[in-house]
Amino acid sequence: MNKIALSLCTLWLSTYLCSCSSILSKIDTVHKKNPSPNTSQDAAQPPAVSTNVTPNIEVSTFCERELGKLPGSYDKEALKITCAEMKQLSGCTSENGAPILHYEKEGTDKSKGKRILAMSLIHGDEIPSGSVTRAWMARLQTIDPRNTWRVLPIVNPDGVTSRTRHNAQGVDLNRNFPSQDWSEKATPYWVNKTRRDPRRFPGDSPASESETRCLVKHIDEFKPDFIISIHTPLGVLDFDGPQIANPGFKPLPWVGLGNFSGSLGRYMWVDNKVPVLTIELRGNSGIKRLDDFDQLQDISGTVAIQAGRVLSQEKRQ
Ligand SMILES: [Zn+2]
Repeated sequence: MNKIALSLCTLWLSTYLCSCSSILSKIDTVHKKNPSPNTSQDAAQPPAVSTNVTPNIEVSTFCERELGKLPGSYDKEALKITCAEMKQLSGCTSENGAPILHYEKEGTDKSKGKRILAMSLIHGDEIPSGSVTRAWMARLQTIDPRNTWRVLPIVNPDGVTSRTRHNAQGVDLNRNFPSQDWSEKATPYWVNKTRRDPRRFPGDSPASESETRCLVKHIDEFKPDFIISIHTPLGVLDFDGPQIANPGFKPLPWVGLGNFSGSLGRYMWVDNKVPVLTIELRGNSGIKRLDDFDQLQDISGTVAIQAGRVLSQEKRQ
């Protein structure tokens, strides 16, 4: 069965970097073990790494090469297994034609668990942010998380290649989301407040960039309850969402920096009431310890659940 699917995909791959990962992933889903029903922590359970995966060669090679370049230590075998499960939504290609890949792991807690969309490297020069999602994906392979996670480790692959904040068209993708106020405010803000800072150019129109449209497609398709976007170098947890208690993550203080026209926070929280946690690693070396990454993931998952609880209480009132 897998062999037939693989040869079909190989044919398809010869003309286009393909959606066969989704075909294969459907096959994989059939073979996957059922998740353990009694797991309540993202930190939870047993090291049951899935190995019965037929890799999509081109996607997995690209994934291993690009994620392998990111700083910090990682387990090569775990990366290989993660990359074999990477998928690409149709249309999720950068302006220069690089794939924008995602990884997904279903949660076990169907009543309280949230749908979390996590992403890094929307700004291509914030390299350590990708080390966090690389570690999170490897960990998700080994646990049965309470929340469902979809992770996009490299949103702006062209910016990563050129080590620029913006994409190949010179657009700051985090000012290019189609927030309701984009047409009225994004360009005047860029002209008057940033004095046409080329690092913060919002684009010629909302969602003008293929990377932005890819993210909007993920949001429409995955329907997240909660979004995490990882950046550098401010060294804070910046939350756009309802009032909740400080989660007390020692390496990064809890603040509210506000948001901008065309930013993810403005588009998702202000316009659509989906909370956005912006993780700003400190400096450009970021936090280095893998157990801090684990704790950060668990805290983020808890914040998602708490924010969901507050929002549903508010809805009932
Ligand atoms: Zn950033």
